[in-house]
Amino acid sequence: MTRPSHLLDLDLPGLEAYFASLGERPFHARQVMRWVYKRGATGFDAMTDLSAGLRERLAREASLAVPRVAAEHESRDGTRKLLLELGDGKRVETVLIPDAGRITQCVSTQVGCAMGCAFCRTGTQGYERNLTAGEIVGQVVLGQRRAGARITNVVFMGMGEPLHNRDNVVRAVRILGSDHGLNITRRRLTVSTSGLVDEMRRLPADVLPALAVSLNATTDAVRDRLMPVNRRWPIAELLGALKDLPLPPRARYTIEYVLLGGVNDTPDDARRLVRLLSDVRCKVNLIAYNPHPDSPFRAPDPAAVEAFQAHLLAKNFTAILRKSRGEDILAACGQLKADTAN
Ligand code: SAH
Ligand code: SF4
Repeated sequence: MTRPSHLLDLDLPGLEAYFASLGERPFHARQVMRWVYKRGATGFDAMTDLSAGLRERLAREASLAVPRVAAEHESRDGTRKLLLELGDGKRVETVLIPDAGRITQCVSTQVGCAMGCAFCRTGTQGYERNLTAGEIVGQVVLGQRRAGARITNVVFMGMGEPLHNRDNVVRAVRILGSDHGLNITRRRLTVSTSGLVDEMRRLPADVLPALAVSLNATTDAVRDRLMPVNRRWPIAELLGALKDLPLPPRARYTIEYVLLGGVNDTPDDARRLVRLLSDVRCKVNLIAYNPHPDSPFRAPDPAAVEAFQAHLLAKNFTAILRKSRGEDILAACGQLKADTAN
């Protein structure tokens, strides 16, 4: 028997082609997407505007599977971390972060990560495989069911390097952002990369406003040590690429900067960062490092964080300090390595 087609893997044109390949009319694609993404259908039975024959056929030949929840941890601040099992038994994590009427979901894009950043838990794990677009979209469909409310923001900041899995991530962004899909506002979808410049250059223009770059250092010497990717694409090349790319008018990149105590959080770093970003259209997300048990790095002093942010603000940057959420359950994005995921 052939494997069922995973319909969450397909955007509208893909789903139309799928129905055409079955000898069916392409408009069923819109019907199925409406059932799955607007009405929360979990199976084909519910899809009463499809003929009984087509529903039966889809039940045999197609799948709407989402990852299975293997464990769930809820933090004191309401953040929920879900350990998910994929079809082949591999495990990844996703985090739901409610905040003032919004729900942000942090999704994984790979099992493990090949980038080996020195401060990151996922980085110590090595790379196993890419997630399919359907497995990425499935995390959000599942997240929405668990939350019982619309997911308003999605950040691709869980396990993995999204641009190592560019095609599937681009497709997932389009399905999540499409009005036939979950209709999440494009500027509320954020794809975070450690700086794979060749892949950034291959991104379609409609995905550029979603792009976030983890800079995390202001000199190549420090960045080389924190992020091996810097030896291939040093800071000047990375920021140069951002300046060259066809970012639509008014859109801005996000620059992420994880503050590591005593490593990249000094006043000199703040000054260098301002210089480096002076002609990059961006806003800056500062993230206080969330230490984990085997990490040689420590969290920054609150006074250093405050001074760093104040310097950026004084130079007219938008600089947001991302609150650490779910610290008690090790749910901070980027440090998703499942303690329980063996
Ligand atoms: N691989 C991508 C996306 C996943 S990591 C990337 O590196 O951008 C998402 C963010 O979490 C990155 O900005 C990363 O620098 C940050 N991060 C990793 N470990 C962290 C930790 N322990 N505390 C705080 N931020 C962390
Ligand atoms: Fe991979 Fe991002 Fe972690 Fe680096 S910070 S190891 S790129 S997940």
